[in-house]
Amino acid sequence: SKSFAMNDSLLDRLLGNTTSLDAVSNVSLSVHRGETLGVVGESGSGKSTLANLVTGLYTPTEGVISLDGTPVGGATDRPADLLADVGVVFQNASSSINPRMTVGDAIAEPLITQGWSADDCEERIAELLELVELSEHHLDRYTHELSGGQAQRVSIARAIATEPSVLVLDEPVSALDVSVKGSILNLLMRIQDELDLTYLLISHDLSAVKHVADRIAVMYVGELMEVGPAEELFDRPAHPYTEALLAAIPNVDPSSTIEETFVLEGEVPSPVDPPSGCVFHTRCPMAEETCRTTVPDQIEVGDGWSRCHFAESVADDEEVTDAWQ
Ligand code: SF4
Ligand code: MG
Repeated sequence: SKSFAMNDSLLDRLLGNTTSLDAVSNVSLSVHRGETLGVVGESGSGKSTLANLVTGLYTPTEGVISLDGTPVGGATDRPADLLADVGVVFQNASSSINPRMTVGDAIAEPLITQGWSADDCEERIAELLELVELSEHHLDRYTHELSGGQAQRVSIARAIATEPSVLVLDEPVSALDVSVKGSILNLLMRIQDELDLTYLLISHDLSAVKHVADRIAVMYVGELMEVGPAEELFDRPAHPYTEALLAAIPNVDPSSTIEETFVLEGEVPSPVDPPSGCVFHTRCPMAEETCRTTVPDQIEVGDGWSRCHFAESVADDEEVTDAWQ
């Protein structure tokens, strides 16, 4: 099997036994080698914090992260080899790449940091340009001279330069024109195949992950609400929050007679003072008294699970199922 065992997975090693982190709690996820795990949720749901925990950019002020069962104090205490195995692509190349660096220097930077020789760098940069479909005449340009799509290709080249096995993609196409989004997603999928990469794809937009993710994890107030195979999750969401995110995807079929489920109103509550019981109860149209008092268990549905007291009836709701086909 290509899968890591549950306790052996990268995310489990990073996030296993995390408790009372500021914005992400009770998160335990396993990611399989070569797969794309989509992590979705609104702004404030904790998905970027999860990305930052994985990449080591975020040090929890409270709580414990354990690696192979050994608690470590914070991101800086983590084994360097584990962090070097994770690359990251952010939403904006313009904010993650030094504007005074040329494309060539920007791609060389992670290689130089790892002690590559000038000759090896040159060879590697040529390979990377080919992988991301840029050419040598881009090397002396600055990112502000490039289109958004070209700049994001440079970010991708930087992220894969030192051959990590895991890439965290934090809203990688959110800032791009609609016409460019598809080509960058296609590029990412091709590179994943060629290099056998594992992706953690963070997005507020379920439609952006629909055609890319193998599995999807839905986050809310720093907790996982539902995790499942992408197709299943689209066909039979088993959590009202997932339904709401699906409902927010514009319906592209004008002849559709499908009725909307419900529209999410209000903001994601603060993770510092999360709602009691089910954290989604303050915005959930199905909420009952038990939701305010009792934290839902993880209920298995199909090949995934949901943290809703009524997961099975939500999943079985035919109207909802029909709405997203
Ligand atoms: Fe809604 Fe209750 Fe399910 Fe939470 S447990 S999602 S409040 S129905
Ligand atoms: Mg974000």
